[in-house]
Amino acid sequence: MAEIPFNRSPLLGREKEYVEDAIGRRRLSGDGFYTNAVSEHVKQRLGAAEVYLTHSCTAALEMAALLIDLGPGDEVIMPSFTFTSTANAVALRGAKPVFADVSIGSMNIDLDEIEALLTAATKAILVVHYAGRVPDMDRVNEFARERGLVVIEDAAQSYGSFYKGSPSGTHSALSTISFHDTKNVTAGEGGALVINDPRFIERAAVLREKGTNRQQFLQGQTDKYTWVDLGSSYLPSELTAAFLLAQLECSDTITDVRRGHWKRYREGFESLTKRFSVSLPDQETADQPVNGHIFHILLPDSGCRPAFLAEMKARGINCTFHYVPLHSAPAGLRFGVAPRGCPVTEDAAARLVRLPLFYDLTPEDIDYIVSQAASALGNLEN
Ligand SMILES: *Cc1c(COP(=O)(O)O)cnc(C)c1O
Repeated sequence: MAEIPFNRSPLLGREKEYVEDAIGRRRLSGDGFYTNAVSEHVKQRLGAAEVYLTHSCTAALEMAALLIDLGPGDEVIMPSFTFTSTANAVALRGAKPVFADVSIGSMNIDLDEIEALLTAATKAILVVHYAGRVPDMDRVNEFARERGLVVIEDAAQSYGSFYKGSPSGTHSALSTISFHDTKNVTAGEGGALVINDPRFIERAAVLREKGTNRQQFLQGQTDKYTWVDLGSSYLPSELTAAFLLAQLECSDTITDVRRGHWKRYREGFESLTKRFSVSLPDQETADQPVNGHIFHILLPDSGCRPAFLAEMKARGINCTFHYVPLHSAPAGLRFGVAPRGCPVTEDAAARLVRLPLFYDLTPEDIDYIVSQAASALGNLEN
């Protein structure tokens, strides 16, 4: 069997056609035909008030932090088990990430921890949808509403997922999507800011256009185009948007295939749990389905992970792991706090292994990988 990479960009068929068409239009900067088509597509799918395409989810998170006027003295509660961008967006504004522990079955923020981390300085809760599974947003929102906190969703991993039947990314004022190459639907590098609270729409357009009122100017609402607020350059080019549109048009297919892979992995490893002490992610439920973004297992202990990864690599299967818990990372110690510690995060992050999961895998590949994992686990015991 040929080497199995950890990830491979999906190709759905119309990417070249759309990129060529974008080139032929002789206007490649942002907010052209394809950017508008993508924004409209995502906006319709989600039923959002507005969607702004960005060059990354990182950029969308930075916009969200600007939009809620985060600044020195403010605290934002977020999981320690996430990508650096979640915390950077907050720290860049001079505000403090307050790291919470996760629930081991979902690796999502432990909702019981949020209340314990609340202080007079808490301004927002930044919820991450690990592996595409949306946490109990009704509970988060009720808690936030009672205390006047803003909720932001880092929905980087959850495009195509749902919570209680409605699309991921629609259960808070602001949410951010990633279209990075490692995500289910890709533009190479890309992202979007989803605005569900209309009061943020106008200012978001200004932030995204380098702090200018260019959009109002183009719409004839002002006769001058000038610097009116903070901002940066958050627009992707039309080439990126063209590629992305082709992917988005097939996002249901991508999700179905990846979710099928996830379920096959889970069944396969379930049968191994009788022989080996590996832990699996929680089963999906009707209210909180998965989108097949990540499939991970937790090994019996952290000591055996390097050997397991090496055993898999020797079998031509590229597995990986993440994240270094942010509360213990050098910048996390400098810019954030974890007043209650994050013992579950520390334990799980040290034992977690991610299996290859991408659109082009076949069910046979999954069965092969599971059988090789069984043999690798067997070798570790000897
Ligand atoms: C991928 C990811 C990001 C960053 O996305 P980019 O589009 O690469 O900026 C942020 N948060 C989480 C949870 C992610 O998985």
